[in-house]
Amino acid sequence: MSSIWTDLPGNAVKRLEVEARTGRAVPDATAEAIAADARPDQTSVSAGADAVPADAPDAAEWRRALAGWADTDGPRLTEVQRTFTRRAGIRQPSPGAWGQSLTQRFVADYKPFNFVDGEGVRCSLYVSGCPFRCPGCYNKAAQSFRYGHPYTAELEDRIMADLAQSYVQGLTLVGGEPFLNTDVCLALARRLRHEFGSHKDVWAWSGYTFEQLLEDTADKRELLGMIDVLVDGPFVRALYDSDLAFRGSSNQRIIDVPASLAAGAVRLWKNGQYR
Ligand code: SF4
Repeated sequence: MSSIWTDLPGNAVKRLEVEARTGRAVPDATAEAIAADARPDQTSVSAGADAVPADAPDAAEWRRALAGWADTDGPRLTEVQRTFTRRAGIRQPSPGAWGQSLTQRFVADYKPFNFVDGEGVRCSLYVSGCPFRCPGCYNKAAQSFRYGHPYTAELEDRIMADLAQSYVQGLTLVGGEPFLNTDVCLALARRLRHEFGSHKDVWAWSGYTFEQLLEDTADKRELLGMIDVLVDGPFVRALYDSDLAFRGSSNQRIIDVPASLAAGAVRLWKNGQYR
């Protein structure tokens, strides 16, 4: 029988990738599901166009719109970001959209003992799946919710063992979209808090803004409550700057989450003393 799996050439490569990573043959039924994930009209996948629309705001228009507004001007800033990011070709959810149904509990990668995903030595989990589809996304393959390999109890045990090293400062949740993989990220964050309390910190990157997460579903708010530092918002190619610390475009903020939740408004990490 002809199938989506065999009809699209990229799917064979994906199947081989999954099989190589898991060491197991992918059953046909799973292969069909992965292939369905790869159809361009599915929300759960990667394949969106990578081009910036012709009428997307350029850097000057962005800067004019944001001029005079502090990074902490939540609702107004969020509205500008929503409008502008849509024009920039980035998909934007309404509250509650893209719920838990998208997660496939797949992870693209796990990188222990790295120095780039936040402050100090970190263990980073790259979860799979992100529907924002920012043009210029640094990790386009991981936009698919079926990219990589399934998250396992063995991997979780390994992450906890790595985190136990005294020189490790904390866990980083990145993607893909951690807040659309709360099955994985919440379990891991709860376990970290149970075993290490506040001795290890948690950083996360999200295409959602802090304000969007506050308006969204309970699982997202619970995960937010377990995070120390959030780098928020989608990647905007017009605002790309290679000199920025820990982020790709200047619309993204590095947020001190406990202080922001306590204040009811965004408080920047290190009072914004980062570039
Ligand atoms: S939010 Fe991040 S992972 Fe998602 S599409 Fe944008 S750049 Fe890629």
